[in-house]
Amino acid sequence: MSSTRSYAAQSATTPLAPWTIKRRSPKPHDVEIEILYCGVCHSDLHFARNDWGMTVYPLVPGHEIVGRVTAVGDHVKKFKVGEIAGIGCLVDSCRECDNCKEGLEQYCSEGAVFSYNGQERDGSGNTYGGYSKSILAHEDFVLHISDKLPLEAVAPLLCAGITTYSPLRHWKVGKGQKVGILGLGGLGHMGVKLAVAMGAEVTMLSHSASKAADAKRLGAHKFVLTTDEAQAKSVTNYFDFILDTVSAAHDYNFYLGMLTTNGTMVCVGVPPPAPPIAAFNLIFGRKSLAGSLIGGLPETMKDINEAYERMLKGDVRYRFVIDMATL
Ligand SMILES: [Zn+2]
Ligand SMILES: [Zn+2]
Repeated sequence: MSSTRSYAAQSATTPLAPWTIKRRSPKPHDVEIEILYCGVCHSDLHFARNDWGMTVYPLVPGHEIVGRVTAVGDHVKKFKVGEIAGIGCLVDSCRECDNCKEGLEQYCSEGAVFSYNGQERDGSGNTYGGYSKSILAHEDFVLHISDKLPLEAVAPLLCAGITTYSPLRHWKVGKGQKVGILGLGGLGHMGVKLAVAMGAEVTMLSHSASKAADAKRLGAHKFVLTTDEAQAKSVTNYFDFILDTVSAAHDYNFYLGMLTTNGTMVCVGVPPPAPPIAAFNLIFGRKSLAGSLIGGLPETMKDINEAYERMLKGDVRYRFVIDMATL
């Protein structure tokens, strides 16, 4: 065991404060990382405040982790001390179910182990995330990261990046398609850039007029102010695909009306309970409403390599990233 400095929430009403956690010594397949940067995800906040009613305290958030390998277990083959590596939202899963075998560890039928607020499969307790000096995980859940990339900009790819990349890829977003990105925050800004890079015509949907300039700067072809009736009407039955990144309360029915025939809206934000969905809004136009949770390890690796090189160019404007030298 080793003591690691961290920032933890001790309850839903106390702010994050310094706390010392005990990390296990590396097991034969473990990779230990000294954390250099950790992105700040909206989920961190939701968990700290117990918004989803499932927080186990003390909570050490953080699942966009980039750092340097400081130790490896005897059986580790893929990593060496001194290399740059990352850990995203997952640190373990059963690795034997159909989902795991397909690289969809996030949907592990035995329950994936999340990087924080997860339960270790060996029964040793709660997992603690990246708002800390170090972390360790089985090598299968550690990602290679090139030391040539600006690491603070890579960190957000490990949750925000993969969360938007995975559904865009799964629903085959590309050239000739009209895509709406709902909400311009940590997820939305990635969604815009990725969808543009995939060749789609991209519209930013926002209720805040102040986001228009940023949407354009990120590459969006259009901006629709959803509170403006005429603008909202102009995209009735318009989109092939909507990526809904909003985690504040909103009415899905309103946005389903913007989908064209066979269109799909995918939720990646987690808002509080929404008004009921009228079945007619799906039936007329054979529309789909779907959800998507982060991404598996193979896809996350792809996200880092493709997304980074092609699209992101060090843009972290919509993400705060903690430099762990400050901890
Ligand atoms: Zn996240
Ligand atoms: Zn599994």
